[in-house]
Amino acid sequence: MLRYASVIIDISHENVDRMFQYRIPEHLLPQIRVGSLVLVPFGAGKRPRKAWVVDITDKAEYDESKLKEIDSLVEKGVTADENLIRLAWWMKERYGSTMNQALKTVLPVKRQVRARRTNLWEELAGEEFLAGQVCLSEEQRRIVDSFCVDYESADRRPYLIHGVTGSGKTEVYMEMIDYVLRQGRQAIVLIPEIALTWQTVRRFYARFGEEICVMHSRLSAGERYEQFARARRGETSIMIGARSALFTPFSRLGLIVMDEEHEGAYKSETSPRYHAREVALELARMHGAMVVMGSATPSLEAYSQAKAGIFRLFKLERRAGGGQLARTEVIDLRRELAEGNKSIFSRRLQELITGCLLRGEQAMLFMNRRGYANFVSCRGCGEAIRCPHCDVSLTLHDSGRLICHYCGYTRPMPKICPSCGSSYLAGFGIGTQQIERLAGKMFPDARILRMDSDTTRRKGGHEAILSSFAAGKADILIGTQMIVKGHDFPGVTLVGILAADVSLYAPDYRSAEHTFELLVQASGRAGRGKRPGTALIQTYAPRHYSIRTAAAQDYEEFYRQESAYRRLMHYPPFSHMMALLVSGEDEELTAHMIGEIAAAVERRFGDRVTMIGPVPAPVYKIKDIYRKILYLKQENYDILIRIQKYVQDRWDETEDCRKLAIQYDFS
Ligand code: ADP
Ligand code: ZN
Ligand code: ZN
Repeated sequence: MLRYASVIIDISHENVDRMFQYRIPEHLLPQIRVGSLVLVPFGAGKRPRKAWVVDITDKAEYDESKLKEIDSLVEKGVTADENLIRLAWWMKERYGSTMNQALKTVLPVKRQVRARRTNLWEELAGEEFLAGQVCLSEEQRRIVDSFCVDYESADRRPYLIHGVTGSGKTEVYMEMIDYVLRQGRQAIVLIPEIALTWQTVRRFYARFGEEICVMHSRLSAGERYEQFARARRGETSIMIGARSALFTPFSRLGLIVMDEEHEGAYKSETSPRYHAREVALELARMHGAMVVMGSATPSLEAYSQAKAGIFRLFKLERRAGGGQLARTEVIDLRRELAEGNKSIFSRRLQELITGCLLRGEQAMLFMNRRGYANFVSCRGCGEAIRCPHCDVSLTLHDSGRLICHYCGYTRPMPKICPSCGSSYLAGFGIGTQQIERLAGKMFPDARILRMDSDTTRRKGGHEAILSSFAAGKADILIGTQMIVKGHDFPGVTLVGILAADVSLYAPDYRSAEHTFELLVQASGRAGRGKRPGTALIQTYAPRHYSIRTAAAQDYEEFYRQESAYRRLMHYPPFSHMMALLVSGEDEELTAHMIGEIAAAVERRFGDRVTMIGPVPAPVYKIKDIYRKILYLKQENYDILIRIQKYVQDRWDETEDCRKLAIQYDFS
């Protein structure tokens, strides 16, 4: 007889991160299961507290007479899916978070929904839809056929589709979903938030109608809860959304699709710092479901798994509908300067834009990495003007104000240098606003749109800009990362990448991978319609392998060079890394504690792990909080987990820790 329940108390209280065992009273035995929300007596207070049942056993962990009894069930039928509780447990273990943090991540918060239901369907109902593609190409068909055979025979080896931009991956996903639905199962489709546009949703709606549900960050908490509730009631069978769509309480999950698998947005920035790919694989394992990933530039993680035969690799090498990949050209900006052109537009780019405008076609100009540009520095002492609360330079905006992109601090542009009093202050670097202004001067008749985090801050700003560009209401679209992700603009025949190497110098072992991805994805925006496209890459480092291989659209060669480098340096995916971050208001205490941790790890695990640091985090101070990092490298993930538990146990026992925070980030 299973009579004891382990519970986690009220998930809004971080400080109670232990399981407590309670007796299950006779009359509740038939109703209580893993995932039930119950009321239990706890602490000195008279009011019983809410708790989630996370385990049920027939063994009392303590003296049975001392165990208290569960009071009641909170509400009949309020249960979390058992698999989600297990998944939270798995995430806590794998990413070194607390159980409370993991539960908060997987369980939607119940909120009252205002009467307004998402008016998605009304909006979509007024749209003209493209008819679905009836017939798949031979390349596409081969993948779908193989999928059906594997699915039928319960072979659940994950799929990785490496398909060039515009090769019709979405059509392949839809065929697979259709198949899985016909088996009476459900599907989750993950799309990075930034690429989750009406354009994508519309295609799914055209095919599956109201069977789809959409989850994105612009929904209110109540609306999200309602979407999950619909899924739980079985009123929907396809959930499309960003990474949190993984936690849809489907009971008959059959397929998880992960589009643009390489996207950084799939990694959570808050604890548990999970990666959606890893969680998807675990969730699929629990449900006996399939995982299908797709990308034009697979991550090193996924591609190495495919090379090792753990994932099945499929290729789509041609653009669906017969279009050609863009022709690429590389321009060396050093030569441009040497020959007297100081503008950010090379002469070749000016020529291409002019031609494009003459033919009535559209161009996109892409500026990589917004935050680094546009700072103001002093020619007298060389100091940049910095945020007083964060360890970053302030960004100069067209309004003439300086703004901190980390905390929002803002001040007017000073007349004299705050450090030395010199009056020679000047803006450095170049941002999207200046590009817009320069392009306006150079091409006065062109209609120009700009898309970056300034112009999209308003709700719906993102959509408004994309749809007006798609409708041909502008000739040139200027923007950051967000213009290159997954959009399909058939009128675009030219993509100009203004400074390709900016992202190469980021302090991150993934910088070459990110650069390659951005260049290939950006080039992929050109020539998706009937007319052929050109991608022009301007760079100061034309010989760098990520730029050369991106220009040649040669993923295999990029992978070869990048994986050799990662292996040599013992970087992921060929080794694992845990970044241990300690942060606090007290700079000295922060440094002292992370030093103690480093010493303790060295004593206990020094022979088994490579340690780097402690070093200041890439941004040392944010909102007056100091941050230091210790990096630990080891091929065996389990050893890193053991170190994490060792550190956390000691941490919990130290009094000073109340004033600091510790976080772990695995890769
Ligand atoms: P990807 O997701 O690989 O970038 P998409 O699925 O967006 O590619 O497809 C690119 C374009 O090609 C879309 O407009 C799509 O409707 C079209 N397409 C896809 N499959 C076919 C096909 N078999 N025949 C003709 N056009 C297709
Ligand atoms: Zn100065
Ligand atoms: Zn700041």
